[in-house]
Amino acid sequence: MSADTDLLVVGGGLMGSATAWAASRRGLSVTLAEQFEPDHNRGSSHGSARIIRRTYDDPTYTPMTGRAFELWRELELDADTGLLRLLGGLDFGDRHYLDAIAAELDGAGVAHEILGAREAEEHWPGLRFEGRVIHHPQAGTVDAAGAVRALHTTAANRGALLLFALSVRKLSVVSDGVLAEFADGSTLTASQVVVAAGAWLSGLLCDRVQLPRLTVTEQQVFHFPRLDPSAPPWPSVVHEFGDGIYHLQGGRDGGPGDDRKIGTHYGGRAATADRRSGAVDPAARAAMADYVRRWMPGCEATPRGEATCPYTSTPTEDFLLDRVGPIVVCSPCSGHGAKFTPLIGELAVDLVTGANTLPERFRLASHLSVGA
Ligand SMILES: Cc1cc2nc3c(=O)[nH]c(=O)nc-3n(C[C@H](O)[C@H](O)[C@H](O)COP(=O)(O)OP(=O)(O)OC[C@H]3O[C@@H](n4cnc5c(N)ncnc54)[C@H](O)[C@@H]3O)c2cc1C
Repeated sequence: MSADTDLLVVGGGLMGSATAWAASRRGLSVTLAEQFEPDHNRGSSHGSARIIRRTYDDPTYTPMTGRAFELWRELELDADTGLLRLLGGLDFGDRHYLDAIAAELDGAGVAHEILGAREAEEHWPGLRFEGRVIHHPQAGTVDAAGAVRALHTTAANRGALLLFALSVRKLSVVSDGVLAEFADGSTLTASQVVVAAGAWLSGLLCDRVQLPRLTVTEQQVFHFPRLDPSAPPWPSVVHEFGDGIYHLQGGRDGGPGDDRKIGTHYGGRAATADRRSGAVDPAARAAMADYVRRWMPGCEATPRGEATCPYTSTPTEDFLLDRVGPIVVCSPCSGHGAKFTPLIGELAVDLVTGANTLPERFRLASHLSVGA
C-alpha cells in the first residue's frame, strides 16, 4: 500500500516551511503539520527582522551564505514579495574574528572594505566603533515572519497540504516509511519525514534517534528608537563584545517608527520548549541600555519594545541535519540559521532524495563525536 504523502514535514517555522517549499518545487507530495496557528510567536521564527550577512570566520558557512542569497531571490520572485533589505553589514570587535572573516570574504570574492573606527563613525553618525571595522554591502535584514508566509503560500500553490493547530504526538518507523500519530487521534503515513521542530525536536525524537545535546535558551531582544528616524538606515552590526552584541533595523516588531533591534548571541537563560518565562529580565534591559548609551548614542536609551525567543543550540553551534532511515533531523538554529533558510530546505530535501550535498560536520556522527 502506498503512503498518504511522499514527505511529512513536522514544524512550520522557517526550516520546515523551507523544506516544504523545496520539496514542492521538486514535485514531491508534501504535508506540513504545525502544532500552532499560522503566524504564532512561540517558536524561533516570528518577527520581522533577522540579520543576513556574508561574514563568517569559517570556510563551510561563507560559501553557504552566497548560495542562500541566490535562493532568497528565487523565493522573492516565486512569492512576488520583497523579504530582504540590503543595508550592508558591519563587523567589529575581536581582532582574531575580524582577521578570519576578512580572509573568508577574500577567499569567496565577497566585496568588502576595512575602515578605521573614526572613519566608520563619520560614515554612520550615531554609532561608535573600536579598532577596525569590516563593512560589506551584501548584508542587511530578512523579514522572518514574511518569509514563513511566503514559503507557505508558494508551497501550497504547488499542492503542499498545510495543516495547522495539529501536533504530531508520535512518529513510528513502519515497513513503507513512517506512521505519524497526531494529537487529535488521526494518523498519516509518509514515505519520509523531515522533523524541523525547533526547541521541541528532542522531545519528539529522543526515543527514535541518538541526538547530540540540544540546549534551549530564552534570548531577549530589545527595540531602541533612533533619535533621527529621517537619517539613512544603519547597516546590520555584529560587535564581538561581551556576550556578542548584534543589532539591526527593527522592522515592524518595535511598532511604528524607526528602531534598532538589539540582542546578545550568548548569555540566554536556560529553558525548555514549553518552560519559558516569556518575561524580560530587568537586569538584561538595564545592561542593554548601558550598551546603547556607550556605543549607540544615536538611539534613545529606553527601549520601546522587547521580546523573548528560544535558541536551540548544538555544542559547536553547527547546524544539525542528517537522515536515519526515513527520518530526517533538521535543527539549524544555534541563533544563526535564518539567513540560510531556503538553503536548509534544499539540504533537507537532498537528504530525502539521497543526494549527498551535506557538509559532514552537520551530520549526527560529527556532532556525537564532539567531546567523545
Ligand atoms: C532572538 C533570535 C534572534 C535570531 N537572530 C538571527 C539572525 O539575526 N540571523 C540569523 O540568521 N538567524 C537568527 N536567529 C535564528 C533563526 O531565527 C532560527 O535559526 C530559525 O528561526 C529556526 O527555525 P526552525 O524552523 O528550526 O524553528 P522554529 O521556528 O521554532 O519552528 C519549529 C516549529 O515546529 C513546530 N512544532 C514543534 N513540535 C511540533 C510537533 N510535535 N507537531 C507539529 N509542529 C511542531 C513549532 O510549533 C514551531 O512552529 C535568531 C533566533 C532568535 C531566537
